[in-house]
Order: sequence, then structure tokens, then C-alpha cells
Amino acid sequence: EAQKETRGFQTEAKQLLHLMIHSLYSNKEIFLRELVSNASDAADKLRFKALTDDSLYEDDSELAIRITFDKDAKTLTISDNGIGMTREDVIEHLGTIAKSGTAQFLENLSGDEKKDSQLIGQFGVGFYSAFIVADRVEVFTRRAGVATGEGVHWECTGEAEFTVETIEKASRGTTIVLHLKPEAEEFADGWRLRSIIKKYSDHISLPVIMQKEAMGEDAENQEPEDETINSATALWTRSRSDISDDEYKEFYKHVSHDFEDPLSWSHNRVEGKLDYTSLLYIPAKAPYDLYNRDASRGLKLYVQRTFIMDDAEQFLPMYLRFIKGVVDSNDLSLNVSREILQKDPNIDAMRSALTKRVLDMLSKMAKNNPEDYAKVWSAFGEVLKEGPAEDFTNREKVASLLRFATTHTDKANQDQSLDQYLERMQEGQDKIYYVAAENFNTAKNSPHLEALRKKNIEVLLLSDRVDEWLMGHLMEYKDKKFQDVGKGQLDLGELDTEEDKKAQEESAKQHEDLVKRVKEVLESRVDDVRVTNRLTGSPACLVVGEHDMGAQMRRILEQAGQ
Ligand code: ADP
Ligand code: MG
Repeated sequence: EAQKETRGFQTEAKQLLHLMIHSLYSNKEIFLRELVSNASDAADKLRFKALTDDSLYEDDSELAIRITFDKDAKTLTISDNGIGMTREDVIEHLGTIAKSGTAQFLENLSGDEKKDSQLIGQFGVGFYSAFIVADRVEVFTRRAGVATGEGVHWECTGEAEFTVETIEKASRGTTIVLHLKPEAEEFADGWRLRSIIKKYSDHISLPVIMQKEAMGEDAENQEPEDETINSATALWTRSRSDISDDEYKEFYKHVSHDFEDPLSWSHNRVEGKLDYTSLLYIPAKAPYDLYNRDASRGLKLYVQRTFIMDDAEQFLPMYLRFIKGVVDSNDLSLNVSREILQKDPNIDAMRSALTKRVLDMLSKMAKNNPEDYAKVWSAFGEVLKEGPAEDFTNREKVASLLRFATTHTDKANQDQSLDQYLERMQEGQDKIYYVAAENFNTAKNSPHLEALRKKNIEVLLLSDRVDEWLMGHLMEYKDKKFQDVGKGQLDLGELDTEEDKKAQEESAKQHEDLVKRVKEVLESRVDDVRVTNRLTGSPACLVVGEHDMGAQMRRILEQAGQ
């Protein structure tokens, strides 16, 4: 067991490592943020475990992160006394990439460094970012609660292999030693490190400690003294007016493991029947696994500032799964579990309030900052479209956030709201018309649109997979019903003039024989054949019965082999 063992990286880890080193060199300093963020997570995990077993503290409950450097040896060391890792943990977490969808993610890489570094940011850089500045990384770690003889030493030079070895380690937690590359020696410097910590990790609730720089004549003889570099208070517990935008942004990167700035956030303290603080963020880009069923989602849950769990899904509905952030409750018990969360009626109340908060944040952005909202829509629009089906109460509110392609612009870009549609409705129009097809061009060129185009009636052009599902649940918006123009006998109500109706009757009479013949030929393949005034250019079109499944839904089911 104790022997040194050499292992190969999983292929994907190898690729990711290579990519990391080559695409992030222009933003080297972020490695420190990632390692401090991991140390902070490790402290959170230990605190949580210690709630039920405080022997895990091993008489050392002052959790902290310590950073030291050695200019001569060109090393930088980041130490924590958090949860630590076992040999298996090390192999699993530092030798493989356990995330689902990694292979898929790698396939999307283009070779263009700029684009790839963005993608990798969305994927989460994490521990491997150490290799941006180091050509050799050593990890010394021991899991809280295990014998001192069960420490682990992991070492890697950022290439195909790493070694693991069981060692004696007196103190619990993890120490990471970076052997700096020649071009990264600048990081073995106290002032540089302080400024990076201030910039990226000030919000970390754990103290980040360094030795004071010795100064003056007798610098040599001074006793080294510790100082805490960061503010070391949980960011969300501070008052809004004391927190800068940059601090909010850095905190977002810590909780979301995202690399880019968020678009917006909302920070609130709720007091009264329920007492909690929430800090919710809208990301700028979709994560690579937004549509992966097993992807992590939800908020980070704290109870009275103690970390309880990641990915608490109970606080927001599925269609808001892209929202990141923290909720800190003063009412929940410290030993709350996922099962308890599912049953607790207070959670339902919090979920409604948080949902409302997010929807308000989105509405506000749509109104005041349409450019940002367009980004939200392009990243998360398809997910928001799940809203009306999932969340009956907020159906209308979600509907007001939807954006569509319509015959008004005739462009594929989904940028028109239902309110804009209502404003442009024709005199006497009492329905919102839409057509659904498998792609935008088919929708746009649908023969079903001909009569409406002639009368200048706007039609929503739907072509996303979820659209028909969405329409099945939306039904109406501000008392106007939705009408699929490809379904049943299209009744344009008051929009049809007397003349139209007369012409329709006449042509029906005129073509009676033709209709009969066509019916005979098509026999059992259609329900009915009738003359229509809906077409102006095309001779004929197929329509689906009023109560039948929509054409798009039918295709989806056919594809699924139904
Ligand atoms: P992430 O933080 O997104 O999970 P990382 O690549 O940053 O991904 O870290 C991978 C995993 O390695 C962590 O999830 C954790 O299990 C483990 N790990 C990294 N650093 C530490 C640490 N200082 N203490 C304990 N575990 C750690
Ligand atoms: Mg991390």
C-alpha cells in the first residue's frame, strides 16, 4: 500500500491539462484563486462533517489557509487544514475528471486558443490551473479523522503520469507545493501574492494568512509574524452598500466555478416568518452541460453561515436551473438533509420567493438592459421555455420573458416579446397566431402563413424543440388565446371581411366536384378535404385537426420511435 505507484492520467485529463497550460497563460494569476477556492471548499466540508463528529477537528478547529513562498527554491505553497483527501480521493479527484460530459466538451474545442480558453472557463479550470505556473506540483494531504500514517503524497509534472505514495502526515488537510516555471517566478513574491489574494479571494470566509514582510534595518532579526490578507467574512453577510461590483463578481466565480463575470445578481436579506439571506446570480453563458440530466444545479446552502451542501435543488424550479448562488437560512436545522428539504413546507415558501426574485431580476434586465437580456435569452431561452409547463403560478410572468422570431422581422433571431406582439395586433384581432416547424425556414415559408401575411397579421415562427410543448401549456397571454395556424379550420374572426366569407362560400360551391375527386383519390389517408381561402400562392396544404397533436410534436415522437 505504502509503495509509490505511478499512474497514467485518463486520456481526457491529459488533454485538459495540455489545454489549460496552453490557453490560459495570458491570465496566469487565476491559479491562486482556484487553489484558495478549493481550500475554502475543503474547510466548508470539514465544518459540515464536524457538526456530527467534532473529533474530526483533532484539537485544531481554527480553520485557515496559509500561503508561503521560497524565492530561492522558487516554490509557492498553499496549505489548508480542511477535510483533506485519502489515497482513493486523490486518485479520483486529481487523476481523473469525474465530470460527466468531459469527452463531449473536448470534442467542441476548436484549436483556436481564444475560443477554447473561454470554453475551458465554462467547464471550470480548477486544480489543474496549478500547471499554468508550475512545471511540477506536489500535494501532501491527509483526510480528517484517519491515522497520521495514512497521508498521501501526489506528484506530477503536468505530463502523462503522476505518482501517489502513502506517507506520514501529522497535520490534517492539504498542502500544495508549486515548483514554479522560470517564467512564473514572479509569483514567489509577497507583494504580488497579497495583491492577487486581495483581488480574487477577499470574499473567502476563511482567513488567508501570510507572514508579514520583514522590513527595516534589523529585518534579519525580526520574529516572523502572521497577518490575515483577506477580509475573511462571508460576503453575503455583509451589507450591500459595502460590497463592490468586483467583489460580487469574484464571489460568483468562487460559487459557480465559472470563469467569466456574471451578467447580474440580486442580494437580499429576508426577515420575518422566515429568516434567510440569498445571493443569486445570472451567468452570461450556458455551462457545457445545461441539457445534461445529471448536471449539477441549484444553490449552495448554508445554515447560519455553516456550509451544508452544494447543488441544493429545492430552492428553485428546474427551468431556473442556470441560476447560481447562495442561500443562508437561520431557521433550518444544521443537520438538514436533502430528504428533509423535500418535505419542509418552509422550503416551498422560500422557493416561491426566490423564484419570484429571479423572475423580477430577469424582467428588470429585459426592460433596462435589453442587450444583456438578449445574452440571457440566447444562453437560456430554451430552458426558460420549460417554465410555463412547470410553474403554473408564474406562467404569465415567464411568458412575458419569452422572445420569439416572428413574421414582423422575418428573421431567425428570437427577439420579439409577446407584449410587442400585442401592441402590433390588428384591429379586431383576438388571437396570437403561431406556426411551428422543424426549422426557422420551414416555419417562415409555411403555406399556412399566406392568408395572414396578406392581411398583415403577425405570426410567431416557432422552431425550437420545446416550442410545441410550450404552446401546449401557455394557452393564453393577457387574455389572448394562442392559435396554431396549422391546426383545424383557421377562423380569423372579425378579421375576415364579409367579402372574404362570400368568396369562400362561392369557391367551395364552385369546386365541389374537385373536392370530391381528391377525397376519393386520397381515401383513408386524410380525414377531410376542403376548399380554403388561406392559401394565396400554394395550391394545397396539409393541416392537422384542431384537437390533434401538432405536426412538430408528431415528428418528435416519430423520431423517438413512437
Ligand atoms: P472543483 O473545485 O470544481 O470540484 P477542482 O479541479 O478545483 O474542481 O478540484 C477537484 C477536486 O479535488 C475537488 O472537488 C476536491 O474533491 C479535490 N480537492 C482539490 N483541492 C482540495 C483541497 N485543498 N482539499 C481537499 N480536496 C481538494
Ligand atoms: Mg475548484
